[in-house]
Amino acid sequence: MNQEYTVDPSRLVSPDMTPADAEEVSLRPKTLDDYIGQEKVKGNLRIYLRAAQQRGEAMDHILLYGPPGLGKTTLAGIVAAEMGVQIRITSGPAIEKPGDLAALLTNLQEGDILFIDEIHRLSRQVEEVLYPALEDFALDIMIGKGPAAQSIRINLPHFTLVGATTRAGQLTGPLRDRFGIILKLEPYSPDELASIIVRSAGILNVPITREGALELAKCARGTPRIANRMLKRVRDFATVQGDGTIDREAAVTARRQMDIDELGLDEMDRSVLRAIIELYGGGPVGLETLAANLGEESVTLEDVCEPYLMQLGFLTRTPRGRCVTRLAYEHLHMAVPRRLNGDEDDGQTSMY
Ligand code: ADP
Repeated sequence: MNQEYTVDPSRLVSPDMTPADAEEVSLRPKTLDDYIGQEKVKGNLRIYLRAAQQRGEAMDHILLYGPPGLGKTTLAGIVAAEMGVQIRITSGPAIEKPGDLAALLTNLQEGDILFIDEIHRLSRQVEEVLYPALEDFALDIMIGKGPAAQSIRINLPHFTLVGATTRAGQLTGPLRDRFGIILKLEPYSPDELASIIVRSAGILNVPITREGALELAKCARGTPRIANRMLKRVRDFATVQGDGTIDREAAVTARRQMDIDELGLDEMDRSVLRAIIELYGGGPVGLETLAANLGEESVTLEDVCEPYLMQLGFLTRTPRGRCVTRLAYEHLHMAVPRRLNGDEDDGQTSMY
């Protein structure tokens, strides 16, 4: 392992929920009007909600997909609140056996919402039990063993499943087909994130200017969870080093002290780019090789670092491996190799 490229797993800019985010529950919007951004998703949901309310029926099953921290759990809670029903929250890996799912389903009331996070991680066995529950609101249970075994059917209340996944492509076809409503959440614009930060600051009683919020928003990687986390961290800096107000200057100072640059890249992201440049001449390099150099799991690089680096156009995936682009060299203030000059799409085009 090369020490120079070692990365810190507890990152401020990680979109995954950590115990330190427990406070975020109080920041969750409770109504669709309070939910900022995602206009298309909200517009569609409003219609589906009104239609279900007018018919006096439960909502159709809903699949929400998009990267972590974008507001899937929050949206499920809002649907429950707007429908005036209870929500039960669980996750794919937590439902280990068909019996666990049966226990959850038989405890639901008419119209309730069952929220399953990371639904792509349900086991096959559990998925099989879920199908009739979604389609016919029934559970088929086997009693006894061998030739005397009998299947009995238990009727369930009409409930709504809200499934959330970061990887819609990993859902099995039959499961995906059982969702009547499929909604994709997109990364938020800096302006939307600034509004989320201002709203959260109001709840947390933190004085903030719009410019301060925008400065934080620009490095929140399109993700409300990161925006809220930055706000809480910068609040500490502003309290100790300033008069407690987060203005543009306080935000910039705090960001620099946390080693996060103006695009939201932290030391881990920069290590990835630098490793590809310094050890592999800009790429291509295979994911496994890169992960070994950084002392990281390849899935961590793939799920946590790469999506944002690719979104920025700093990294490309080619059949031969990962390559960095001219933009990445420029961002790191490193000399751009001649072959990349005037060619942003390097790895892709040079191959063909
Ligand atoms: P996910 O389930 O997609 O990982 P969450 O629903 O847990 O994300 O959202 C993470 C945090 O971000 C929530 O606590 C909430 O405060 C905030 N958040 C997410 N989406 C929005 C939004 N559209 N408006 C305001 N706050 C949001």
